[in-house]
Amino acid sequence: AHIKPLKVADTAWPLNAADPGRLPVMETFYSLQGEGFHQGRAAFFIRLAGCDVGCVWCDVKESWATEGYLQKTVQQLADEAAAHPARLAIVTGGEPTLYDLSALCDALHQRGFRVHLETSGAHEVIGDFDWICLSPKKFKPPLESVCRQAHELKVVIYHRSDFSWAESYARQVSDSCRLYLQPEWSRCAQMAPLIIAYIQQHPQWELSLQLHKYVHIP
Ligand code: SF4
Repeated sequence: AHIKPLKVADTAWPLNAADPGRLPVMETFYSLQGEGFHQGRAAFFIRLAGCDVGCVWCDVKESWATEGYLQKTVQQLADEAAAHPARLAIVTGGEPTLYDLSALCDALHQRGFRVHLETSGAHEVIGDFDWICLSPKKFKPPLESVCRQAHELKVVIYHRSDFSWAESYARQVSDSCRLYLQPEWSRCAQMAPLIIAYIQQHPQWELSLQLHKYVHIP
């Protein structure tokens, strides 16, 4: 069946308001962060189900729905994470800001984790994150408040027109925010040379490649 992004009414957000200690989980895995500032670091990934953004080139469309996924408690998730040696947890999706993530952050912090968030900035961030990676999407622009909170801005370049779009967000983030341009995977061959040339002229930006797609990282 054709997958459609989730529709979320403002009044229904955050989706776990009734029970912030529980989240629908698409998958958890222990791997290396493949992108951006923390590239190459071992981390426990928590991929939450549910996304209301709907990017056409999304490579995890099966994450858009929330039905059919296991609801896990934040304690369960923190215990799973703590079974691995790294003390870095990355909360991703889907769009994790659909949920109140404060209980999850607390449970992970109690076990000594640093907790990172990967978000499109579509909703306010609820939770005490040590690092927020904002990857804005044209299909649902990020909130200004999330732009200001971001530690890392990672813009996926799909078209040559996306550079000016990337700059429009660079103006909204804080001065200390790290700036990354990342070629969209299916257009990497065309876009990477343009990105490299752009960074040579605009050295405030850095290149992010999806390491996990070039080398097999289990
Ligand atoms: Fe896919 Fe992320 Fe876009 Fe949602 S925000 S559609 S999960 S790429």
